[in-house]
Amino acid sequence: MIKKGNKTFNMISVEAAKQMVREKVPRLDRQEQIMLEDATGRVLAEDVCVDMDFPPFNRCNMDGYAVVSSDGEGDFELLETVPAGAVPKAKVASGKVSKVMTGAPLPEGADAVVPVEKTTQAKNDNVRILKQAQAWENVTTRGLELKKGDRILEKGARLRPQEISMLASAGCSQPSVFRFPTVAVLATGSELIEPDEKPGPGKIRNSNSYGLMAQCQNIGLPVHFLGVVHDDPEHLREKIKEGLERDVLLLTGGMSMGDFDIAPDILRESGVHFWFERVRIKPGKPVHFGTTKTGSVVFGLPGNPVSTMVIFNQLVKPALQSLMRLPSEEGIREQGVLALDYRRKDSSREEYLPVYVQKEGGQWTIQLIRYLGSGHMMALTKANALMKIDVGVNDISSGSACEFQWL
Ligand code: AMP
Ligand code: MG
Repeated sequence: MIKKGNKTFNMISVEAAKQMVREKVPRLDRQEQIMLEDATGRVLAEDVCVDMDFPPFNRCNMDGYAVVSSDGEGDFELLETVPAGAVPKAKVASGKVSKVMTGAPLPEGADAVVPVEKTTQAKNDNVRILKQAQAWENVTTRGLELKKGDRILEKGARLRPQEISMLASAGCSQPSVFRFPTVAVLATGSELIEPDEKPGPGKIRNSNSYGLMAQCQNIGLPVHFLGVVHDDPEHLREKIKEGLERDVLLLTGGMSMGDFDIAPDILRESGVHFWFERVRIKPGKPVHFGTTKTGSVVFGLPGNPVSTMVIFNQLVKPALQSLMRLPSEEGIREQGVLALDYRRKDSSREEYLPVYVQKEGGQWTIQLIRYLGSGHMMALTKANALMKIDVGVNDISSGSACEFQWL
């Protein structure tokens, strides 16, 4: 229990917080049709079936000669040349061949293609086949890959380049996808100025908004930047109102115990119900998570930049992925071996520590790096992973197995 004025806060475990987020984040079911060229990274909102056989005809896979394979080697009469995109005019029969290009339909009567490299010119414009082809060699028969009506992609599939290519082949030029959630990022704090300004006395640059926007971009989600607002109730109220018009409001700063940490009260006044206000995590304990009656999701993130990033990874990212209709994942967890002894005084929270992990002798070795606490973003730039330390653990001796997550 934590007290602020006459308020007390229940601190919940990281696991309970994750569970709460899973339960309370709404399921968005809005769809839109978009151009295929804009669809990379989006999630399909309906199954897609192919409208024809694939390939749609017996396709020659090499530049060469369409033959009757049982004819074997010898000299053959040349009937015609068939480019890709053309329709063969002549029927191939024993003793006769047609020249074909990769992608051309196999002429009727032929059952294989002999690559041009295995042929030479013979007398009287005949073609000499130097090596017999097996039946159906260098040919993909009609419908071998897919039959008309086959389901090629399922609702919920994330569109990677290979899916985009497949949709193009299937004639799906405007796929129906789930609409992504709209996200607003708001930084609060009277000390904050924007990165293109030189901070005066007592001021610092707003870095959280940029870090958060980059984290959202990393999962393919565009973000609306609401700028910086001072710890001034009127102004904050206005900006929060604007933020709550989106599906998600990510707000940083002003969530803790300070005299000017007014964001939670104003969020509450603006209709946000908080499901938790403290989590047993380090850094990031004062993280707030709430929803509104109209279905918006709000994360109030502590202002220290490392806290913001860690909480995004642990709690915000899974929520956003679920809103995007993607399977939630907060990053693959791996096991490594700690290189040096580690000790901490307070073991009351689950801790995420910036570390550098590399492969040594077939296993992941975890190096501790200089870390001055949750304001020390420079440590995260030196890190490539976060090591997890469980509640109740004070000492970890070198050589012990530890869990980490790539950054
Ligand atoms: P707060 O959570 O408002 O108490 O802020 C905690 C610490 O994080 C303070 O040192 C703030 O100056 C710093 N901080 C808050 N917001 C930001 C931000 N947007 N960018 C960088 N640092 C911030
Ligand atoms: Mg502040």
